[in-house]
Amino acid sequence: MINIKSLSLAELGAWFEAQGQAPYRARQVFQWLYQRGVRDFAEMSNVSKALREALAADFHLGALETAQIQESQDGSRKFAFRLHDGHVIESVLMPNNTQHTLCVSTQVGCAMGCDFCMTARMGLVRNLSSGEIVQQVVEAARYVSEGRFIRNIVFMGMGEPLHNYEALVRTIGVLSEDMGFGFSKRRLTVSTSGLVPAIRRFGAERVGANLAISLNGVTDAVRTRLMPVNRRWPLAELMQACREYPADNRVRITFEYVLIRGLTDDLADVPRLVKLLHGIKSKVNLIPYNAGPDSKYQAPSLEQARVFQEALLARGVLATLRISKGQDIQAACGQLVQAGRRNAPRARAAG
Ligand code: SAH
Ligand code: SF4
Repeated sequence: MINIKSLSLAELGAWFEAQGQAPYRARQVFQWLYQRGVRDFAEMSNVSKALREALAADFHLGALETAQIQESQDGSRKFAFRLHDGHVIESVLMPNNTQHTLCVSTQVGCAMGCDFCMTARMGLVRNLSSGEIVQQVVEAARYVSEGRFIRNIVFMGMGEPLHNYEALVRTIGVLSEDMGFGFSKRRLTVSTSGLVPAIRRFGAERVGANLAISLNGVTDAVRTRLMPVNRRWPLAELMQACREYPADNRVRITFEYVLIRGLTDDLADVPRLVKLLHGIKSKVNLIPYNAGPDSKYQAPSLEQARVFQEALLARGVLATLRISKGQDIQAACGQLVQAGRRNAPRARAAG
């Protein structure tokens, strides 16, 4: 059986045609799946019984088992979802007045092996299917109260989205479908550790979602220490790909920069960062390091983080300081890891 949430509108339309039906029926089904979040094909009341049965014979709805929900004092919620094969992934819903941002996972674990990130310790277990990524939005949307809504989706949970390229692009298509959730692509942000060929492909194919690059170091020495991917695609190549990224004029590439005490929070890094960004329409998102159990790095002082931000602003770089939500429930950036694996011995990632 196929997960219906992995299908594009066109593919579902083709299925209806193969049944001798009008392809527009797929639009009705998309409304049921995403706007109504049905749990059973039987709930699709404007679809004939015969067709509902045919759907149920070929597809399943891709429900995820909610293994755990944790609520932070700041109002954010972390979901642990169990997949059909028993693996657990996490998503984080972050409220901001009536609008929410949902952070979704794209893989179980991650192959990139970044030295500061809890997810890296799992290594890559497997890719998520598009249906499994989309379903995180369906499940989380249930917990958004009346009058509120999910405005932004960030692909910044477990995993390296561009390492699961096909499923990612498929997911972006489904989420932005008018008859489904109808997300504007401007409200979808893909964060990558810097897989240069995939960044180029993402740009060339005009996928349309926002791009965020996890920079985290302004010299190859520091960046390679933190992010092994930098050995393969060092800063010069990464920045060249960003410079050549075909974004329209209004769009900026976001550069995430984790501030680690004594390693990346030195003011001497500011001019280097400014130089790296030269010629790129960009903004910088500073993320103070979130420590996990037995982390070897430390967060900067809040004051140092502010000084770093001010120094960037003074040089004309648009810079925001993100105080991660959900730290008390281990839901902050870099703290997502399969439940129960938190104290597992470090597994070296394949890279
Ligand atoms: N794999 C993708 C997206 C998931 S990580 C990527 O690396 O971009 C999302 C963001 O969290 C990245 O910018 C990463 O640098 C940051 N991050 C990882 N671990 C962190 C930690 N312990 N503290 C703060 N930010 C962290
Ligand atoms: Fe993977 Fe991103 Fe964590 Fe690096 S920071 S290990 S790429 S999830």
